[in-house]
Amino acid sequence: MERNRVTTAISIVLALVLAAALAVSAMSCERKEEISKKIGVVVTILPQAEFVESVGGERVEVNVMVPPGANVHIYEPTPSQMTALAKAEMYAKVGSGIEFELVWIDKLVAVNKKMLIVDCSKGVELQEMIGEYEHDGEHEHGVMDPHIWMSLLNAQIMVRNICDGLVQVDPDNKPYYERNRDAYLQKLAELDQIIRNGLSGLTNRRFMVYHPSFGYFAREYNLTMIPIEEEGKEPTAAGLVHLIEQAKEHDIKVIFAEPQFNPQSAEVIAGAIGGRVVFINPLAQNYIANLRSLLDELLQVME
Ligand code: ZN
Repeated sequence: MERNRVTTAISIVLALVLAAALAVSAMSCERKEEISKKIGVVVTILPQAEFVESVGGERVEVNVMVPPGANVHIYEPTPSQMTALAKAEMYAKVGSGIEFELVWIDKLVAVNKKMLIVDCSKGVELQEMIGEYEHDGEHEHGVMDPHIWMSLLNAQIMVRNICDGLVQVDPDNKPYYERNRDAYLQKLAELDQIIRNGLSGLTNRRFMVYHPSFGYFAREYNLTMIPIEEEGKEPTAAGLVHLIEQAKEHDIKVIFAEPQFNPQSAEVIAGAIGGRVVFINPLAQNYIANLRSLLDELLQVME
């Protein structure tokens, strides 16, 4: 069923892309040159848009596949996104195994075979998904955590990979890209230090969050993330009871939730412990500003 639906969606999308390609070739040569002034770059998630724009400056035009508020695990591209893709010169994938890319990347590449594919995760050490408790006595091991961008050190590797890609597409402007890259890397390194210092004094280093997006962040700064979701699903009633016990035991007062997911079970736990739910967004476009405010949230609620 699922496969049929996807196949139908792909046929429709491919037909639209073909139509768009015909329309483009019907344009005059002059128009085409005007359009190709900027380098079209497509990325999967919003934080990558800041990475590409920081390095590419006014030389790039970025399109993001998974829009604000959408769930990166189940999102499907629209026909207009496929049209942008058909004109792009580079696709910067996250490369860490997020479902959107697992399902779509081959189809996206097939739409535009000339586009350079940059794997932002090249050189990043993938870590296993964090799960605090056993599920019916079984525990699935070996599932890698795709949320690599939530570590500022990984972000620096991703930015380097993006810069290498832009240089490959547009070698004439190599010094420009490298200068921008270094300025942005400097900002990332400074923020890393601010977060490291800011969190160093915490005595209770545990936090609970609905969807386990903060595994790399937690490892980097020596925090313990307790996810509410069980393998991508709402917790069972027994799971909820166990989480409430854990929250009480570790004196957790705040439950984090992401705006892309239903906060209901986070609210249930917060209600049971007399705490509250705070929203934090791992997919905000303003990457540096967002991590900066994430630090402020953590410092406000953790002790
Ligand atoms: Zn996720």
